[in-house]
Amino acid sequence: MKAGQSILVVEDEPKIRDGLSDFLEFHDFYVTTAEDGLAAERTVSEGRFDLILLDLMLPKISGEQLCRKWRQQGLKTPIIMLTAKGQEKEKIAGLDMGADDYVTKPFSLEELLSRIRAVLRRTDPARSVGQRFTIGPFTVDAEGLKLINGNQQTELSTRQAQMLQLFASNPNRIVSREELYEKVWGESMDGIETRTVDMHIARLRDLLVTAGGDKELIETVRGAGYLYKVKG
Ligand code: CA
Repeated sequence: MKAGQSILVVEDEPKIRDGLSDFLEFHDFYVTTAEDGLAAERTVSEGRFDLILLDLMLPKISGEQLCRKWRQQGLKTPIIMLTAKGQEKEKIAGLDMGADDYVTKPFSLEELLSRIRAVLRRTDPARSVGQRFTIGPFTVDAEGLKLINGNQQTELSTRQAQMLQLFASNPNRIVSREELYEKVWGESMDGIETRTVDMHIARLRDLLVTAGGDKELIETVRGAGYLYKVKG
């Protein structure tokens, strides 16, 4: 069970690949690496990632081809392209082909980290589950702000709908309070918000129970965050 978000690093230069991997692991991301386009394609078909760092110039299949192909296949994972200086034309193409951002080499790791965080923060959970989705026994209408259980309908606040959307799009993965706060409140956490998040979760649980759900639908994982577990 993971607490950190997972990043796939696709980079053929071993030094850069290892450096990125160490740096991101140090910052609590789970890192998987791929050294060429083919390996990246295979890895993405086998696993789920929160973000992909994709080098533009890669052996076997280029970053550009990969990005286009993934988007054509409907892959929603945010992608940050790594481009080399002087690839200005490719940079523009990079955005056209469905990348979320680009970073020009040589880049500072701190700069890259802030771009990664920004992209993750603005990634809408609705990208994976949509505006109408199921969670436990419920159907959630995130636009109409309704929690539906059979013929019973309960009103949701925007934040409650967003929290449910976030859990529904991350089944069996621990969502940390920081991540929840960043995604739902749209700001990074200062520390004091821990209680705010806990209070909102407590209220959400009460509401789910009143609407006929299990109070364990959203579990608390001590010291790590919250978990929506899906069996089977
Ligand atoms: Ca390269």
